[in-house]
Amino acid sequence: MAPKRKKTAKKKTVAGRKPGTSRAAKHTPSKIAGRGTDPPRVRKILEKLDEAYPNATCPLHHRNPFELLIATILSAQSTDVRVNIVTPQLFEKYPNPKELAYANPKDIENEIRSTGFFRNKTKSIIGASKKIVEEFHGEVPRTMEELLTLPGVARKTANVVLGTGFGIASGIVVDTHVQRLSARLDLSKNTDPKRIERDLMQIIPQDRWILFSHQLIWHGRRICQARKPRCIECNLEPLCYSKDKTV
Ligand code: SF4
Repeated sequence: MAPKRKKTAKKKTVAGRKPGTSRAAKHTPSKIAGRGTDPPRVRKILEKLDEAYPNATCPLHHRNPFELLIATILSAQSTDVRVNIVTPQLFEKYPNPKELAYANPKDIENEIRSTGFFRNKTKSIIGASKKIVEEFHGEVPRTMEELLTLPGVARKTANVVLGTGFGIASGIVVDTHVQRLSARLDLSKNTDPKRIERDLMQIIPQDRWILFSHQLIWHGRRICQARKPRCIECNLEPLCYSKDKTV
């Protein structure tokens, strides 16, 4: 009797594609990448961000923490370019918290109208200025707890002011870019900004928190854009296995 032949499984191939170029293969991360929040992978991401954006900083023009606070409130649902057009005249007319605190709301609305949501923003910047004058001796407070008591200020704005205005790393700014990139780079599985911030704070060294958020924001604006990320130009590509990748 002839010996039985061993059955050998045929490799399935996708029509029209060379072996190893299937969609799954395309998104397989490089071996150096590791997965998710693996510390060597996170270190590599930080190195790559440093290479690409060594001088990343806040694009909102300001001369002091108070101006930065007001500019950050104005930047909600607007662009930094638009805010930078509006603030020079605003700060010339209202150069300190006292001037802004007791300004006529209608005048402020007219000054900031082009940034959108101008009525609410007027309430916020007048309210925040009043509180700074009446409860904080005219000085922008330097703690997260105190900043969060100001009208119109949530964690994101407070982190911008503490980090960029005072150089205090008390958290990580999570805006829409940081939110999207944290998911694409698999640094957080959460969608809520507070939880994303908490996740990032656990894996990013504290002395990198301020620069890291600027770098992610720059990367999100320049390369890893929401609709069509420019992966071919991205130096993080070997470390990224996002399903949104375009290469
Ligand atoms: S640009 Fe592409 S490769 Fe780079 S981080 Fe974004 S999705 Fe990943």
